[in-house]
Amino acid sequence: MRIARFTVGDGDPAYGLVDGAGERLAEVAGDPLYQRIDLTGTTYDVADVRLLAPVIPRSKVIGIGKNYHDHAAEMGGAAPAEPLMFLIPNTAVIGPGDPVVMPRQSSEVHYEGELAVVIGRLCKDVAAEDAAAVIFGYTVANDVTARDLQRGDGQWSRAKGFDTFCPLGPWIETDLDPAGQQLTTRLDGEVVQDGSTGDMVHGVAALIAHASAAFTLLPGDVILTGTPAGVGPVAAGQRVEVEIDGIGVLSNPFVRRET
Ligand code: MG
Repeated sequence: MRIARFTVGDGDPAYGLVDGAGERLAEVAGDPLYQRIDLTGTTYDVADVRLLAPVIPRSKVIGIGKNYHDHAAEMGGAAPAEPLMFLIPNTAVIGPGDPVVMPRQSSEVHYEGELAVVIGRLCKDVAAEDAAAVIFGYTVANDVTARDLQRGDGQWSRAKGFDTFCPLGPWIETDLDPAGQQLTTRLDGEVVQDGSTGDMVHGVAALIAHASAAFTLLPGDVILTGTPAGVGPVAAGQRVEVEIDGIGVLSNPFVRRET
């Protein structure tokens, strides 16, 4: 099942089920994260609605650093033995097509294409073998990073937490093998990242176990699972597309803040 959040014109955000072709959307009543799915009977062409971030993380986005060996190597080190967690404020989240605004404080803003896990229920101390029960679904993320500030600050809150630095979308796929998907990032159409989610150092179940051992997870919280090799800078005016097989394409233009 593919669950999108969308608006039509000046209307309020609503949720809908997207068909396999990604072309038609059937509106549902309420928020499928908290209520059973009831179709309203209204349908739309996806092209005629504005897709929004499919979830606004209720309390947190948890990022995972260096979770692919090839990316850890390109950053100049080895992957950590335990998952390396950081937090991104939910004010950084934007939706498909929304511009990433590169701040004046940074002159080196990078894309990082990632698989995102959406948590479906309140949980704590989840064993890895029970992790599937707390997963609502999966979406695509771009863990946008001010690489110069990441190096200079010594920790990553500012470098990864600016407003607009966490695009999510285009929708949530509830049925997905998280270890069996190709992840491709394109910069103005040119492939710059081409990895498999099967190459994560710590898989999704292990990440949920590790994160929930530290933090209570709430419905709508999001875990970004790390990026494969090939990260690099974006210039104002360029567009980044992150595609994950079995989910879809998340596409965002990058612009430079003028003041
Ligand atoms: Mg990342």
